[in-house]
Amino acid sequence: MTALPLVFEAPRRGKPPRHLADLTREEARAAVTELGQPAFRADQLARHFYRGVTDPAQMTDLPAAVREELTGALLPGLLTPVRTLSADGGRTRKTLWRLHDGALVESVLMRYPDRATVCISSQAGCGMACPFCATGQNGLTRNLSAAEIIGQAVAAAAAMANGEVPGGPGRLSNVVFMGMGEPLANYARVRKTLDALVTPAPHGLGLSQRSITVSTVGVVPAIRRLTEEGLHATLAVSLHAPDDELRDTLVPINTRWKVDEVVDAADAYAARTGRRYSVEYALIRDVNDQPERADLLGRLLADRRAHVNLIPLNPTPGSRWDASPLPAQREFVARLRAHGVPTTVRDTRGQDIDGACGQLAAADRVDGVPTVALPQPSLEPPVELGAEADA
Ligand code: SAH
Repeated sequence: MTALPLVFEAPRRGKPPRHLADLTREEARAAVTELGQPAFRADQLARHFYRGVTDPAQMTDLPAAVREELTGALLPGLLTPVRTLSADGGRTRKTLWRLHDGALVESVLMRYPDRATVCISSQAGCGMACPFCATGQNGLTRNLSAAEIIGQAVAAAAAMANGEVPGGPGRLSNVVFMGMGEPLANYARVRKTLDALVTPAPHGLGLSQRSITVSTVGVVPAIRRLTEEGLHATLAVSLHAPDDELRDTLVPINTRWKVDEVVDAADAYAARTGRRYSVEYALIRDVNDQPERADLLGRLLADRRAHVNLIPLNPTPGSRWDASPLPAQREFVARLRAHGVPTTVRDTRGQDIDGACGQLAAADRVDGVPTVALPQPSLEPPVELGAEADA
């Protein structure tokens, strides 16, 4: 396994064209006024965007003569669907998007009986270099703009609303930042996205903060910043090892911020929100799944507001690592629970379409071009070990 460097600074590439979703409401109104239109047209454009309307011809509340100009100036198409794959009878849909500069990212929409969750990407690639993660092994291409991130959620919301997912028209209820990228390494854009997700129509999707999960490798200063900003999104921390020695190798950012610092920052966040955070732990055979490590993790988390979500490793191409066998998984769960730590094993929806954590690797090709997209399954619903994965 080659050790990659940690990359925090995203390469500077040509910016995507300006988009209404990158602007504040005031900025959008000013932009519309500059185009010689009344400011309220910004609200009309926003309503169309957040409803997933992309065809100017359908924007019948705008004068026909200015539809093209306004959409061209403020609603440029940033995400071009390249391919959509379905699994679970159509209830899991993975979309590969091409961005203006050819970069590729993916999002995965998962419909459950009681909710619909979309897993979105915050960066093209990732600079965090985790050796078990396909995205991490392919490096960072660039940060996504807020509009590029928001657009993935909007597309999912529209697919639900328009009845494109079996089960009839429904509502997108949850968003998880578990696709490609480290959301807290693209803080400003992710922050804007969080605002857009919770802002009511017309300038947002109107989701509740707690139904949004930000998953991080443990960028401690950024977790602290989220805490200070008083956000109430659910926090998930990718721990993967309870001890610094092993975590240094599995999650290289640990060489900068140690296990104790990460869980302390997560504790502070939980104290502020009054809700548990999630600890993600990929179970890797003979690497981090030993009974002693379960006990160590149990002791580490026993008195904290943490919930452990175990993810049986999805092996990535070229990796010598494998998922922990079932008996080891069961033992791990039992030991954590014996320490009083709430523990679940993640549902692995979409495995058959390479739609689970780390599954879509560089070997996947579009038009002969390797993609580095990495879809992730939802954090929810947590499935008890041994139970059927999502009925
Ligand atoms: N950068 C964020 C989001 C990553 S994806 C983070 O690290 O939290 C969400 C989760 O999937 C993370 O916990 C990540 O470590 C995990 N993951 C990545 N590759 C995986 C794989 N091959 N098998 C299982 N989980 C994986």
